[in-house]
Amino acid sequence: MSGAPLFGRVTLIGIGLIGSSLAHVMRRDSLAGEIVVSTRREDTLKRAIELNLCDRGTLDAGDAVRNADLVIICTPMGAYEAIGKHIAPFLKDGAIVTDVGSVKLPVFETLGKHVPDHVHLVPGHPVAGTEHSGPDAGFPELFKGRWTILTPAEGADQAAVDRVRELWLRAEAMVEVMDAAHHDQVLAITSHLPHLIAYTIVGTATDLGEDLQQEVIKFSASGFRDFTRIAASDPTMWRDIFLTNKDAVLEVLGRFDEDLTELKRAIRRGDGDRLFEHFTRTRAIRRGVVDAHQDDMPAPDLGAIPGPYSQDNDD
Ligand code: NAP
Repeated sequence: MSGAPLFGRVTLIGIGLIGSSLAHVMRRDSLAGEIVVSTRREDTLKRAIELNLCDRGTLDAGDAVRNADLVIICTPMGAYEAIGKHIAPFLKDGAIVTDVGSVKLPVFETLGKHVPDHVHLVPGHPVAGTEHSGPDAGFPELFKGRWTILTPAEGADQAAVDRVRELWLRAEAMVEVMDAAHHDQVLAITSHLPHLIAYTIVGTATDLGEDLQQEVIKFSASGFRDFTRIAASDPTMWRDIFLTNKDAVLEVLGRFDEDLTELKRAIRRGDGDRLFEHFTRTRAIRRGVVDAHQDDMPAPDLGAIPGPYSQDNDD
């Protein structure tokens, strides 16, 4: 797919999995007149330049955003406050600031409070990912057929929202606009809770005795395998997700606890009808996911060790 540049200068702050995938899309379809990248570490910047992900690179985020029409923050969310404060004085009139963070309500507190009135803030979240990190991990098809959720504040500039939407459409994503708090509740159940469970299960297996641990790895294809992939996701990112979406995660965790207790009771009492009824209900949900084309990607074939580009970490 090709098209005229949507933006003059685009600045990517952070160029890991998501930032580099966006850079690939913009390169592929010539969506930006110029791409500027800013990173924290010199090595990362060097690699981004080697991979031809930008026209110019700098370690100074303030310098990077000068004259940018679009600024995309692609760092862990824990860095937003410092980045917002640092770049605010250098943002040009009418610029758009967006992000790709996995939790949306806190963006207004950390980043939003620094964004000047003459700049449009359009927070976003591509619900697509892998367990891989860094500038080498990106690929342009990452967002294809996946949702990107935009969560502008009420009364946000519609033209700015439309331009960010257009960028994601060019990345072949499906776009939905949603209230930030609602986004965080939905993602708490669809993404954050499953990750917490995966981290817990893999942690429990790690604590088993040496012999049992070997067997767990050997027979991992029986279900454990996919948990190891999810639990291999980036620790910094996931720490920040649980810290920033604390209330919504604790709420769904409470419900999960109650349901788990009920299933435990059914097992203890030998209540096969209760178990059968529950598993039949959940099977119907699976059919719904498949019908909505949210599981069209090839099944991961990873063995016990996560392999590259298993494209189904909906973070
Ligand atoms: P990543 O591959 O780990 O890359 C993170 C980038 O941010 C790197 O370029 C890193 O640069 C930079 N960075 C890290 N800490 C920084 C700091 N304190 N100040 C400035 N730059 C910093 O991360 P990612 O997976 O692309 O995730 C980025 C964002 O996307 C996160 O907010 C995450 O919630 C969201 N997201 C991720 C996924 C996913 O599956 N991974 C999916 C949807 C959304 P250095 O190397 O120089 O430190």
